Amino acid sequence: MMCSRSPPSLPHLLSLRFLGTVAPRTLSSRQPAALPATLAFEDPSAFRVKSWGELLRALAVFRLCSFPALVNNCGKLMSIARGLLGKRGFSFLLRPTVYAQFVAGEDEREISQSMQKMSSLGLRPMLAVPIEEDLGESTGEKRYEDNMEAMLECVRMSHSNAWSKDPMMQLKITALLSPELCVKLTTLMTQQPYSLSLLVRAMDGETVSFPGLEQREASHFLCGLQRLNRIAEASVGKVRVLVDAEYTYMNPALSLVTMAMMKKFNKDGVWIWNTYQCYLKESRSLLLEALRLSSEEGFGLGVKLVRGAYMDKERKLAEKEGRPDPIHRCWEDTNDSYNGSLNELLGVISQKPERYRIIVATHNEESVRRAAKWMEELGIDKDGGSVCFGQLLGMCDHVSLTLAKEGYAIYKSVPYGSVDDTLPYLVRRAQENRTVLQGIRKERDLLRRELRRRLRQCVKGGS
Ligand SMILES: Cc1cc2nc3c(=O)[nH]c(=O)nc-3n(C[C@H](O)[C@H](O)[C@H](O)COP(=O)(O)OP(=O)(O)OC[C@H]3O[C@@H](n4cnc5c(N)ncnc54)[C@H](O)[C@@H]3O)c2cc1C
Repeated sequence: MMCSRSPPSLPHLLSLRFLGTVAPRTLSSRQPAALPATLAFEDPSAFRVKSWGELLRALAVFRLCSFPALVNNCGKLMSIARGLLGKRGFSFLLRPTVYAQFVAGEDEREISQSMQKMSSLGLRPMLAVPIEEDLGESTGEKRYEDNMEAMLECVRMSHSNAWSKDPMMQLKITALLSPELCVKLTTLMTQQPYSLSLLVRAMDGETVSFPGLEQREASHFLCGLQRLNRIAEASVGKVRVLVDAEYTYMNPALSLVTMAMMKKFNKDGVWIWNTYQCYLKESRSLLLEALRLSSEEGFGLGVKLVRGAYMDKERKLAEKEGRPDPIHRCWEDTNDSYNGSLNELLGVISQKPERYRIIVATHNEESVRRAAKWMEELGIDKDGGSVCFGQLLGMCDHVSLTLAKEGYAIYKSVPYGSVDDTLPYLVRRAQENRTVLQGIRKERDLLRRELRRRLRQCVKGGS
């Protein structure tokens, strides 16, 4: 599909108005031509640190991910295979292959081994408990309490092991609060505003009444907020908690809860972060609204900037319900949206690095190069803490390893858990490799080049 290369929609002027006192410095150029040559990501030597087994595994997994029929049906294929092989047989098949590529391990010993290797390469782990829940999969209060314990364990592992400085972890709100309630809150919020202060009071244990909710829903909401409060209390001062963005039919509720956590916990540091999905047409206005709230309410804002992982499902749902597509028309428009928001945020960070932070969470080389260039122009430190980069474990290591070598703070999102627990996550990763457009193709080429180099060396050594 052809798409116009329109510039980012809202100019800096608008953020100036929202932020009141802060005047972001402007950036001289948006042309990729002047981007740093060191970040060409063309050097296969980044893969010298990988063993033969790791090289071959990565090539095989990426090859599998290049067959659309396999990827589109991988959820079904995996459940058929699990049925035929049984739990142990299936685990035997997946563990050395897809699982080892994208998951750190099952217990603390296995995770620790992967993390130590990562640290030695200059990469920082960002642990993620891959609990995914959607509508119709709600599991009851006991299960949410268990999930909270798993998250608290994640906080403990993230800071008690010296795997990296400034540890981070990811959190999914729907692991602690039912998706049905999040959808209901999203609908209610269009009719009546929910104040952040009300949610903060509920987190503090006050008995409050939530407008529009039935008794049963209100008490589940209260329990959920208190679970989130416990996790935030355990992590403040130790681990930064990055809340994931999910589907548009529940994101407003997730953002409301996350902003309330920011209001309570981000007074003296940026400990709670929210995620902004730039594939959404409304992403720019959501980000500006967050900047306005942070300025008005006086809390620090942490942003995980992503393109977004649920494009196919969002589009199908919008079509089924006869709504306009919430996603940008094409990849180029999503890119413009991503780069525009990145530009906006780096501008405010250069003015108040203690109040605003960003993780540039992308595998897109051009966005990474732009971020690096803009950081240089704005005088933002590579490792000053206010800007860092993020990629998923097992994806685009040529980008991550090069960034680490150049002295940038770079995190790998690291899921862990049993094969069964990580299955939905693995399905999504396979599908994502289809939409992560140039990155995977390039990684495969570089892996092949490194493999050929080693084979040539073996032949020379043998002759
Ligand atoms: C650390 C980390 C945390 C993450 N957390 C989240 C999260 O909380 N929520 C979430 O949703 N995702 C999350 N992601 C996943 C992220 O959204 C995907 O990695 C991302 O979509 C892939 O985009 P890219 O920028 O890496 O690659 P690119 O290859 O540059 O872009 C691919 C992406 O562009 C978009 N796109 C592709 N084709 C089109 C099209 N035709 N029209 C419009 N847009 C298109 C899609 O978003 C697609 O995924 C996270 C990723 C990382 C690395």
